[in-house]
Amino acid sequence: MLEIKNVHKSFGKNKVLNGVDLKIDKGDVVVILGPSGSGKTTLLRCINFLEKADQGQAIFGDIQVDLHKATRKQIHAIRQKTAFVFQNYNLFNNKTALENVTEGLIIGRKIPKEKANEIGKKALDKVGLSHKYNAYPSELSGGQQQRVGIARAIALNPDIILFDEPTSALDPELVGEVLTVMKQIAKEGTTMLVVTHEMSFAKDVANRVIFMDGGVIVEEGSPKEIFTHPKEERTKQFLKRVI
Ligand code: ATP
Repeated sequence: MLEIKNVHKSFGKNKVLNGVDLKIDKGDVVVILGPSGSGKTTLLRCINFLEKADQGQAIFGDIQVDLHKATRKQIHAIRQKTAFVFQNYNLFNNKTALENVTEGLIIGRKIPKEKANEIGKKALDKVGLSHKYNAYPSELSGGQQQRVGIARAIALNPDIILFDEPTSALDPELVGEVLTVMKQIAKEGTTMLVVTHEMSFAKDVANRVIFMDGGVIVEEGSPKEIFTHPKEERTKQFLKRVI
C-alpha cells in the first residue's frame, strides 16, 4: 500500500536519513523506535512532504512519486491519502474542537459544512470527546487536545495515519488515554505508522517494529523478534537502555 525507497535527507552537513526503505501493507501497525536524533521524525515528515527529501521514491497505491521532485499535484494526491498526528497537536487555538476537525474536510476536501460537521462529530465521539465539540484547545487538557488531533486524522478517512511521537508532550498521567484511543483505532484495522518511545504500545499493538539508528533501519521484525530476540548489537544496547 505504501512503499518508500532509498530516502536520503541532510540538514546542512548533518546527514539525517541515509537510504531508508520501508513497505507498509494495509492494516499494518508499524512502530519506529530508535534513539533521539536517529531520524525517525524526519522520515515521517518526508513521507508526508512536511520535509523535502534530498532523494527517494514513494509508491502510494497507484501513485508513484520522486520525493525530491514531486509536483504540487502529486503532493496534494498523497496528502489526500495520509493524515499526520503531531507531537504538539498543531490545533488552531481560535477554533473549537469540532472546527479543528472539520477544517481539513471543508477547505481541503471541499465537503459541505453540514456533512463535515456530521463526520467531525462522529470522529470526536470515537475519541471520547462527544461532550467537547464546542470547547477551545485552551479549555482542554493535553490528552484531550491530542485526541482532537487524532479525531482530525480519523475524519479524513486516510489510507494511513502517521503519528509523530503523539504522547511525548503529555504529562505522564495523560499518556494512557491517548494510547487507549490509538489501540482502539488500530484494532479497527487502521493502517498506522507510529514514531514513539512508548515500548508498551510497540509490544502490545504493533505487528511490526522498526529500529532506526544513524539514519538507517538497523533491524525490523515482529515485536517478539525485536524485544525478545534482537539480532543487532545496536538494537540490544538501545533496548537495554529503555526497558
Ligand atoms: P527524537 O526521538 O529526539 O525526536 P528523531 O529520531 O525523531 O529524534 P529527528 O527529529 O528526525 O530525530 O532529527 C534527526 C536530526 O535532524 C537531529 O540531529 C535534528 O537536530 C536534525 N533536524 C531535524 N529537523 C531539522 C531541521 N528542520 N533543521 C535542522 N536540523 C534538523
